[in-house]
Amino acid sequence: MKIWSKGTPMERTADAIIIGAGVMGTSTAFQLIQRGVKRVVVLEKSTVAAGSSGKSSALVRMHYTFLPEARLALASLAWFQEWSERVGGRCGFTTRPLTSSNYDLGTPPAGAATAHVHYQRPLLPA
Ligand SMILES: Cc1cc2nc3c(=O)[nH]c(=O)nc-3n(C[C@H](O)[C@H](O)[C@H](O)COP(=O)(O)OP(=O)(O)OC[C@H]3O[C@@H](n4cnc5c(N)ncnc54)[C@H](O)[C@@H]3O)c2cc1C
Repeated sequence: MKIWSKGTPMERTADAIIIGAGVMGTSTAFQLIQRGVKRVVVLEKSTVAAGSSGKSSALVRMHYTFLPEARLALASLAWFQEWSERVGGRCGFTTRPLTSSNYDLGTPPAGAATAHVHYQRPLLPA
C-alpha cells in the first residue's frame, strides 16, 4: 500500500520521525540532519509554526534563575548571532534595550537580578 499526501507518494519508513513542526520539532530535524541522519520526517497536523512558535514574541531572553535553562539560553545565543553561517539566510536577530515602548519591563527586583548574575557568571567565558 502506498501512502499519499496531496497527490504525492510518501515514504513509508524513516530514520527519525518528529511530531510537530514548531521550533522544537524543526530544530530537532535540523540537528539530526547535521549529524548525518538521512531520512528525517516531520509530521505536522496543521502548518509549520501553527502552535506557540508562530505566536512567540521572539524575545531571546538570557536571564533565567534555573541553571539548566540559563545554560541552554546562553548556548542558543551564538546560534542567533551566527545564523547565516550556521543555518543560512537571516533570522532577523537584533539586539536592543528592553525599555522600548513595546517592552517596558521596569527594574527587576534586586533579589531576582542578583540570582541571575549568580547563575550566569560561571557560564561566561573567563
Ligand atoms: C504568546 C506567546 C509569546 C511567547 N513569546 C516568547 C518569546 O518571546 N521568547 C521565547 O523564547 N518564547 C516565547 N514563547 C514560548 C515559545 O513560543 C514556545 O516555548 C515554543 O514556541 C514551543 O515550541 P514547540 O515546538 O515546543 O511547540 P509548538 O510551537 O506549539 O509546536 C508544536 C507543533 O506540534 C503540532 N502538533 C501538536 N500535536 C500534533 C499531532 N498529534 N500531530 C501532528 N502535529 C501536532 C502543532 O500543530 C504545532 O505546530 C511564547 C509563547 C506564546 C504563546
